[in-house]
Amino acid sequence: MRENNEIWVFSEIHELCLELLAKGRQLGDSIGTEVAVIFPDMPSKNDNYFQSGADIVLSITNPILKTLQVDTYVDALASLANERKPELILIGATRSGLELAPRLAERLKTGYVAHAIKLEPDADKEFILIDKLSQGGTTIETLVSRTKPQIVTVARGVFSPTHSSRSGRVINVNPEIKSSTTKILKITNSSSTSTNYPLMVCIGHGIKSKEDITIVKRFAETIGAGVVYTRSVCEDFKLAKPELCLGFAGRKVNSKLCITVGVSGDSQTVAGFVNCRIILSINADPYARILSFSDYAVVCDLYGVLPKLTAAVNQLKLRR
Ligand SMILES: Cc1cc2nc3c(=O)[nH]c(=O)nc-3n(C[C@H](O)[C@H](O)[C@H](O)COP(=O)(O)OP(=O)(O)OC[C@H]3O[C@@H](n4cnc5c(N)ncnc54)[C@H](O)[C@@H]3O)c2cc1C
Repeated sequence: MRENNEIWVFSEIHELCLELLAKGRQLGDSIGTEVAVIFPDMPSKNDNYFQSGADIVLSITNPILKTLQVDTYVDALASLANERKPELILIGATRSGLELAPRLAERLKTGYVAHAIKLEPDADKEFILIDKLSQGGTTIETLVSRTKPQIVTVARGVFSPTHSSRSGRVINVNPEIKSSTTKILKITNSSSTSTNYPLMVCIGHGIKSKEDITIVKRFAETIGAGVVYTRSVCEDFKLAKPELCLGFAGRKVNSKLCITVGVSGDSQTVAGFVNCRIILSINADPYARILSFSDYAVVCDLYGVLPKLTAAVNQLKLRR
């Protein structure tokens, strides 16, 4: 029997946790380990962890963990990892997850790989091979850290959740946790930034101003789509919030349909929606790179076509 016999999953975002559980389950079945989800409370009946792939819920009931402060979570996970010796720890690549994972790796003196896009066991089923984009998203490199636990962060939308009728067990654990060295004074809710829409519109810098974004947003609203932006729109031109940036360094979406509007199709952007089932692009340039990634393309001026499309969809809705 291997010394390390658990794969752990942690994310404060429930949907991302379920996505990681699906991958954890697949790896666990392949290398013969159990899959445990780390939960800083008793899970509720609706949490679906077992049906989504967990064998174990490691439930930590400690008021210190009520708010996600990275130092206390590092304490908790490191203390538990020293005791239970997991094989692999999958952490959601949220802002907190990206702070937590490298600190945890340092505490456990082990390797860490950020932003994995593929995970599979090596030929001996001894280590997990981790693929990630590199060179600005133009190449994929495969990494393996030969220390255990291997620690990996994965962004939203890279893996899809699964569902089965399995059951599991809840184990109450009580790791040693010191009080946080920082104090949270105020928590402000940011507006909804969900990228879990079946339809998604990605706005690129073909759109020229903040006011013009309303034209695309109106279209997205009419078809019930979520909205994300390229980095150029968010960071270079500051026309949208950085947390809505999609791509290599940003969010990943795996919608049924992604409509790109005025997006040139650099590989760093495409990394954000490459997992969508259908990609439809609206671009004025018949030679734009995005067209080679698209299933359907509308080569025209977005300012001409979008108001017409919005009106047409509204007409259809009225006729129903
Ligand atoms: C290390 C690194 C990491 C990066 N990470 C990311 C990332 O995570 N996410 C990301 O998005 N980018 C990322 N980038 C930047 C990325 O490479 C692009 O430069 C940028 O995002 C491209 O933005 P865009 O497609 O919106 O704009 P542009 O490249 O300016 O393209 C605009 C497009 O709109 C079309 N257009 C113009 N006017 C109209 C019109 N009226 N109607 C229709 N079409 C029109 C044009 O033909 C063009 O194709 C990264 C870059 C680097 C170097």
